[in-house]
Amino acid sequence: MEKIKNIAVLTSGGDSPGMNAAVRAVVRTGIFNGLKVYGVRHGYHGLINDHIVEMKSHHVSNIIQRGGTILKTARSAEFKTDEGRKAAWENMQKHEINSLVVIGGDGSFRGAMEFSKQYPVSCIGLPGTIDNDIWGTDETIGYDTALNTVIDAIDKIRDTASSHNRMFVVEVMGRDAGFIAMHCGIAGGAEAVLVPEIEDDHLRLFDLLEDGTARKKSSNIILVAEGDQVGGAYEFVKKYADRLKGYDVRVTVLGHIQRGGSPSAFDRYMASLMGVKAVEAAVAGKSNIMIGWGNGNVIEVPLDQAVKIHKKLDGELLRILNVLNV
Ligand code: ADP
Repeated sequence: MEKIKNIAVLTSGGDSPGMNAAVRAVVRTGIFNGLKVYGVRHGYHGLINDHIVEMKSHHVSNIIQRGGTILKTARSAEFKTDEGRKAAWENMQKHEINSLVVIGGDGSFRGAMEFSKQYPVSCIGLPGTIDNDIWGTDETIGYDTALNTVIDAIDKIRDTASSHNRMFVVEVMGRDAGFIAMHCGIAGGAEAVLVPEIEDDHLRLFDLLEDGTARKKSSNIILVAEGDQVGGAYEFVKKYADRLKGYDVRVTVLGHIQRGGSPSAFDRYMASLMGVKAVEAAVAGKSNIMIGWGNGNVIEVPLDQAVKIHKKLDGELLRILNVLNV
């Protein structure tokens, strides 16, 4: 890999709180290292269409606390094609950029890998997704904030649920992964959690609920990941209408509020450290790595492994949740 000239940063795929803190850190660390730093608006779409602007330090002032991404994000079918990536490379050459920091999920990382296979560009990935479903990092940027949003919602739902002796089936995000559901199930004191990773005939769940009723529990909260095999909260209630007859059931789908909000202290801190390390790695001549989080600090992970290896949900967590509901 030749020495890096100018560096660019983009956010791609689903947005997550803390992306701005990462962008700020990349811009400032680039400038600190004497590089020209460019921001690409609208992810790979912007790279193809030359939405590329130089970023000075003041452009990232006052954004560390803001949710979303000031660079905007997008999905780009064109970047999956040779022509699309060629156009992207031509724009990068125009600005003499040969290093790219990609903040996004595994799809965005796949794009970065394809790109760096074809063109001499150093790609560094930062894991940005609320789902925490990226291998090689304990946490992804935005996950902690999303957990806090969900916990806040569960607490509020619990107040009204226990006032009416109701059962709430609450759907949280997680099309393929149950990290949010399981983590918040334990942290929010849910009676049950349904996640895509664990096949469940739900028989035990109803036994547990009945035990709870016998113990005069005043409310029940069942957390369902949207990608659970039952098909989400509404499907759960429909499928088990008979078993749920004795309960006063309500469904709440939390939806996109889980993506928004001011990032938590942890997300800002982690994203800042990751952004610094991303630029330092590029300056050191590294490429095709993800800056992850392990044992309370930044770590370097080969990008192909982060993409290929499936991050598993610890099945032990369900046992722990059940212990806590004795
Ligand atoms: P996320 O990064 O959140 O997982 P996506 O899966 O939508 O989001 O990916 C974001 C973008 O990354 C896609 O719109 C596309 O431009 C690019 N991308 C994903 N997979 C590939 C691939 N195999 N080759 C090239 N680009 C890809």
